[in-house]
Amino acid sequence: MKRLFAVDPWRIIEEELHKDDFRLAESMMSLGNGHMGLRGNFEETYSGDSHKGTYIAGVWYPDKTRVGWWKNGYPDYFGKVINAINFIGIRVLIDEDEIDLYKTEVKDYHRELDMKAGALTRTFTIVHEGKETKIDVVRYLSVAEKQLAVIKYQVTPLNHDSKVTFIPYLDGDVRNEDSNYDEDFWKAIARFAEPNKAHLVMETNENPFETEIFRVSASMGLEAEGDVAEVTPFMNVEYVDNTIVMNTTAGKPVSLTKYIVVTTNRDYDAEHLAEKGGEILNQAMQAGYEACLKAHTEEWAKRWNMADIQIDGDDEAQQGIRFNLFQLFSTYYGEDARLNIGPKGFTGEKYGGATYWDTEAYALPFYLATANPEVARNLLIYRYNQLEGAYVNAKRQGLEGALYPMVTFTGVECHNEWEITFEEIHRNAAIAYAIYNYVNYTGDKEYLLKYGIDVLTGISRFWADRVHYQSRKDQYMIHGVTGPNEYENNVNNNWYTNKMAAWTLRYTIQVINELKEAGHESRLADLYIYQEELDRWAEITDKMYLPYDEELQVFVQHDTFLDKDLKKVSELSPHERPLNQKWSWDKILRSCFIKQADVLQGIYFLNNEFTDEEKRRNFEFYEPMTVHESSLSPSVHAVLAAELGLEEKAYEMYNRTARLDLDNYNNDTEDGLHITSMTGSWLAIVQGFAGMKTFDGVLSFAPFIPAAWDRYAFNINYREHHLTVKIDQETVQITQKGPALTFELYGVKHVLDEDGILSVSIGKVKEETK
Ligand code: BGC
Repeated sequence: MKRLFAVDPWRIIEEELHKDDFRLAESMMSLGNGHMGLRGNFEETYSGDSHKGTYIAGVWYPDKTRVGWWKNGYPDYFGKVINAINFIGIRVLIDEDEIDLYKTEVKDYHRELDMKAGALTRTFTIVHEGKETKIDVVRYLSVAEKQLAVIKYQVTPLNHDSKVTFIPYLDGDVRNEDSNYDEDFWKAIARFAEPNKAHLVMETNENPFETEIFRVSASMGLEAEGDVAEVTPFMNVEYVDNTIVMNTTAGKPVSLTKYIVVTTNRDYDAEHLAEKGGEILNQAMQAGYEACLKAHTEEWAKRWNMADIQIDGDDEAQQGIRFNLFQLFSTYYGEDARLNIGPKGFTGEKYGGATYWDTEAYALPFYLATANPEVARNLLIYRYNQLEGAYVNAKRQGLEGALYPMVTFTGVECHNEWEITFEEIHRNAAIAYAIYNYVNYTGDKEYLLKYGIDVLTGISRFWADRVHYQSRKDQYMIHGVTGPNEYENNVNNNWYTNKMAAWTLRYTIQVINELKEAGHESRLADLYIYQEELDRWAEITDKMYLPYDEELQVFVQHDTFLDKDLKKVSELSPHERPLNQKWSWDKILRSCFIKQADVLQGIYFLNNEFTDEEKRRNFEFYEPMTVHESSLSPSVHAVLAAELGLEEKAYEMYNRTARLDLDNYNNDTEDGLHITSMTGSWLAIVQGFAGMKTFDGVLSFAPFIPAAWDRYAFNINYREHHLTVKIDQETVQITQKGPALTFELYGVKHVLDEDGILSVSIGKVKEETK
């Protein structure tokens, strides 16, 4: 655990320059607007260790696979969102001395990420040979005009009349830190520079895999305020700049506002990117700095109105949840169904910015409740559009049907570790479960007819081919898999995988029957769905082998799990944690320690299929062996702990997920933020503490409040309703906008009219409707 930032409900504040933890601070100060994003790099030169990273959503490159020992069936490449044109750069000189915060003496350093306004600001004073100069910088990536970024860089010579030189630039000579062969992924296409205006157009290189070529244009427009002495444009092959020299007087600020517009051939004709960028740039500059900022902050205000969670009495918890909401919305807000949510968003290169099962398993429930229904629907459409790729993956494994990938941009698998690529097939079930989740939550059954049925059928056909029939036991089995717990590979009959495969087949049969009843036979016939196949699916479902131990009365993680040396995490020495950084891999694989929820993941998903006793026994058995070394894990445990009344455990797990990056729990935030697991703190509060469930179309709550909190409140969308739920140490209060709403609170049914208020004593079933 490492805390560099002050605790504050709305801001992430850094009071000193952390040269030794520079990358960690860069991750934390990341900004994004769904279209593009960047780490908290400085505008001016910084010659110390830093990870410069600017990423454009959907702009990726197939990095040729590099493995020690090639195995047949490995994907050819690992797709990566690539470091793109550095558009924030502004070199700054005071007379002849360039500011470089690694070397220049600095005092009164203050950097803060204002999550309410969506802006990053820095103020500091540099000192050089007795000359003191104050710097104030504001930057934001507009959420009102996605292609726009704005930086206002102000310099105030405090006790001298020096010449101030700004050199704002666009630099296309960038690389990924994480590239297999140190390749340059870009080539320059066009450049242009005149006083106060410039652009640079870059394109991804041709590649042997013939994947899509991306073209990106960055245009900058400059406004200098103060006494400008000269402006000199410059350009070379993949770089453009302006040198703006200004005369100054002590105590009087001068400033440079840099407007940047980034356009890509994902949205516009490749030949006209700079032109289009120029148009948007002109509009922004005509509107002016204040108007652009206002439009941006108003958009953020709307998002906060819809989704904010307020926590009184615990500022650490409050900051944690807001940071997570802020970074999630900065990464993805669902406007573009071609995009998805990379585990590190725009904040780092690990995981390649690609799509993982994280989206369906962890992010979808969050977006369902906190944004418009189109957002979640777009996440589903993304997978529907990649169904063809999923068929390719199954075929490569010699199997029927569709296997969704562990890592992808196109639907085709990119991950090249055999134990994941070939074995972590449970991911397929998460895609099917997401369809159930979406339809159940929104009531949008049309989705099944139009899109969902194709995906469900493809996935079910995969499972039906991947199982094998074991005649001695008269059961179906799935051998050679990796479950969600990646600390074991090549196991047989992972309970989670088998359970979710059987569930998928059953759900698909149910959907098909419903479609039949609704008279959509011809749609089913187009998919070649006939009764024989459904009968086989039903047989697999009925005869799926699900390891269970009679003595312990728990579901067994896989066939040989109970033969391991079963120990508790509490028996480990703190020096051994995290295991993935301290133990050799074989030792991890042999051990009983569980990286992330596995059996418990299944109990979380299919919660209403299990009795309270089953939930309790499995939680008590698996939780003590779980090291939570995947950031995705604690939230699932938080939700189950809350349901079981283990309030302290639930609170502990909440804190771990909510402040994972703020306190660098897993000692890896310097690589980027754990974006997809950030939904975990929301899940822990709403599904955990407030006990919200929606199974079988019934909305219900069973809230408790952690002892450390005075009050918490959140807003959610549910079908045509917008609910506000407020919980303090005495009372649960629910209000709603929309037609009459039926729901359950502590197991008691209520109907609430528009603007009606229901207040009930916390933990009590007694109703005191006002
Ligand atoms: C987890 C996976 C997850 C991936 C990306 C891994 O550490 O074990 O479940 O999909 O990270 O977040």
